[in-house]
Amino acid sequence: MASVGFIGLGNMGAPMMRNLIKAGHAVKAFDLADTARKAAADAGATAVTTAREAAQGVEVVVTMLPAGAHVKSVTLGEGGLFAAAAKGTLFIDSSTIDVASARAVADEAAKAGHLMIDAPVSGGVGGAEAGTLTFMVGGPDPAFARAKPFLEAMGKTIVHAGGPGNGQAAKICNNMLLGISMIGTCEAFALAEKLGLDAQKLFDIASKSSGQCWSMTTYCPVPGPVPTSPANRDYKAGFAAAMMLKDLKLAVEAAQGAGASVPLGAEAAQLYNLMAGAGQGGLDFSGIIHMLRGKA
Ligand code: NAD
Repeated sequence: MASVGFIGLGNMGAPMMRNLIKAGHAVKAFDLADTARKAAADAGATAVTTAREAAQGVEVVVTMLPAGAHVKSVTLGEGGLFAAAAKGTLFIDSSTIDVASARAVADEAAKAGHLMIDAPVSGGVGGAEAGTLTFMVGGPDPAFARAKPFLEAMGKTIVHAGGPGNGQAAKICNNMLLGISMIGTCEAFALAEKLGLDAQKLFDIASKSSGQCWSMTTYCPVPGPVPTSPANRDYKAGFAAAMMLKDLKLAVEAAQGAGASVPLGAEAAQLYNLMAGAGQGGLDFSGIIHMLRGKA
């Protein structure tokens, strides 16, 4: 079993860290929040008081932070993790961040003599707790091979998507498609209501026809047809609209940098921005149906 540093013990990081402990690893844990460090100690980790300490004397460092700026500030520079860790340490960044930052950080890790992968996840807090996350991994083959057993302790599906940054690329392409398809599904159900077509009837037909998609069959945005969807519990997240907005902004920004055309991705970002601006960013992202019905 290995010694692992874990930095960022929030909604996702804390349960991921607990699964590493369950798998028998010795974890040194750090978060800026005292409460998160205390909870980590209660779960069996050694809570440390600086990020640098979590990266010293360990074989692997996992980061699960809000955005690219946090990952850069924690890893880079004289006071950063890359300088603090022993050469050859494996870094796993599971935060969802912009592709450019992921590639820049991976470059610096290699220069410092470390191995690094970007390994963003899907599956949400439920998946993090159950250890069933999907990891989308970018990075060199030797880093992926070394990381795999650690990812398997926290997730179920692990896909190597290519070189540095490709994990983040996969994550934002998938979530951009999800945001667009959810809005499309909401529009179809809202139109059906206006046309006097029962939601269950639309579901019975469209879920077996060419309009079928995950947003409809797993996450149906109206109550009834899929009893487990957030629509049945007043759109309690689930996957918060604010998180979807973050991922759509990353997708649009990446598209601008790469010269790709994403008109529907940009429109989806605008619509989720309106939803968050109306104070509904904490609702599940399928709750955008309220706004599309004109009843925000
Ligand atoms: P969170 O806000 O609950 O947790 C982030 C943690 O990082 C906080 O505890 C915060 O105190 C800590 N932190 C911030 N800056 C730090 C620093 N410099 N040093 C140490 N700790 C620091 O967020 P989360 O929901 O756990 O999400 C983490 C990442 O996972 C994000 O990038 C998010 O986009 C991604 N993600 C989240 C979900 C989800 O459903 N919550 C799903 C998939 C991916």
